[in-house]
Amino acid sequence: MIDRTHDPDRRSWVESANQPGCDFPIQNLPFATFRRAGDRRPLPGAAIGDRMLDLTVFGIEALSGILSMPRARRVELRARIGDFLERHTPDAEFHLTPIAHCEFELPCAIGDYTDFYASANHARNVGSLFRPDNPLLPNYKWVPIAYHGRASSIVLSGTPVRRPCGQISPAAGAPPIYAPTRKLDYELELGAFLGPETELGEPVPIGRAPEHLAGVCLLNDWSARDIQAWEYQPLGPFLAKNFATSISPFLVTAEALEPFRGDPNARPEGDPPPLPYLAGGSAFDIQLEVWLRTPGMSEPVRVSRGNFRSMYWTLDQMIAHHTSNGCNLRPGDLIGSGTVSGPEPESRGCLLELTRGGAEPLALPNGETRRFLEDGDEVILRGWCEAPGFRRVGLGECRGVVLPAIHSE
Ligand code: MN
Repeated sequence: MIDRTHDPDRRSWVESANQPGCDFPIQNLPFATFRRAGDRRPLPGAAIGDRMLDLTVFGIEALSGILSMPRARRVELRARIGDFLERHTPDAEFHLTPIAHCEFELPCAIGDYTDFYASANHARNVGSLFRPDNPLLPNYKWVPIAYHGRASSIVLSGTPVRRPCGQISPAAGAPPIYAPTRKLDYELELGAFLGPETELGEPVPIGRAPEHLAGVCLLNDWSARDIQAWEYQPLGPFLAKNFATSISPFLVTAEALEPFRGDPNARPEGDPPPLPYLAGGSAFDIQLEVWLRTPGMSEPVRVSRGNFRSMYWTLDQMIAHHTSNGCNLRPGDLIGSGTVSGPEPESRGCLLELTRGGAEPLALPNGETRRFLEDGDEVILRGWCEAPGFRRVGLGECRGVVLPAIHSE
C-alpha cells in the first residue's frame, strides 16, 4: 500500500510544507472542514503546510462524500491532491487559504460514537482504583470492551468545556449529592472516523476492516471520575462522560498512516490468543502526548507521553468486533480507542492514573500541583508518526479549557 504519495523526497510548491517537523507535509494531506474568515460557507479542505486547500476544486462538496468513498477512490483522490500540490499550475494559489485565517468545524456530521477501552494498562490501572481486589475483569483479554457514547456533545478542539454537575457519593453508604464534579479528568485517546458503510447484518472480517477506516484524529474523552464511580454499575459510563468529547479538526487518512502500520504487539505470555474472528490485523505506531497549561503558567508542560502501539486491541479488531453481530457502521461514525496508556508510568493517559486517583498529586514545574483538573486549566493533546525512510506526519492538536460549573444549590 506504499506508493509514490509516501515518497519522502516529494516536495510541495507550498514551501511551509517542506519544513522539517511540519505536521502537514505533502505526504500527509489530512482533511478538515473549514471556513475562510468572513465567509460562512463551510468548505472541504486538505491541510498542506500552513495552508488549507479548498477541495471543491476536485469536485468534493463535503468531507462526508470522501468518507463514503470506497478505499480505491480515496487513494486516487489522495494521488490527485498530491500532484496538484507538487506541480505548480497557474492560479493554483487561488485555492489556498492560510490556516491562520481559517475557522474549523467538525469534519462531518458525526452519526454514532462508540468509545472502546482498548488499553490493558489503562484498564488495569483504573480497575485497581475502582476494584483493588479485581483490577482486570476476566472478559478483558477476550472481548474488546466499549460503550455507546453520545455524538451530540462531541466538540471541536478549542471549544471550552464546562465543568459538569452530577450525582456524587461523598462517602461510602452516604446518600449522594448533586454538585459540580471535583474529579474532572481528561483521557488521551485516538479517534477513528469510519467509512464507507457496512451492511446491516453483515460482519466485516478482520482482513477487510482497514477498508472501513477512513482516518484518525486526536480525541479527549473528558471524564468526571466521582460521577463515574457512583453511576457506572451495572451498565457502564453515562453522564460522567457525555458532557463533552473534544476532537482535533484534522482527519489524518488511513492512507497517510500506511508507512506507520505494523504487526500488532505480541500478547504477553500466558494471555489467550484472540478468537479467530479477531485474529490478525495491524497496528499503527502513533506518538501521543498530553500537555497541561494552568492559569498560572505561560507555557504548557508535557505531563505524559505514549504510543498507540501499546494498545491491547487494534482499530482493525475494534471494527471487526463492532460489526461481528451484524451491527452496521456508517460514514461519519466515530470510534474512540479508549485511554492510551502504556506500561511506563510516564505513559499514563489520564490524571486518574497519573495521580493514583488523586492520592499522589502531580507536581508541576511552577510549584503547583494537580490531583484533577481545575477551572481554567487547558489540556492539549498532540500526536505524530515517525519511521525511518518516511516523512514525519502530524495529527495537529486537540485543545480544551475548563470553564467553572454553572451551579445553584
Ligand atoms: Mn474513554
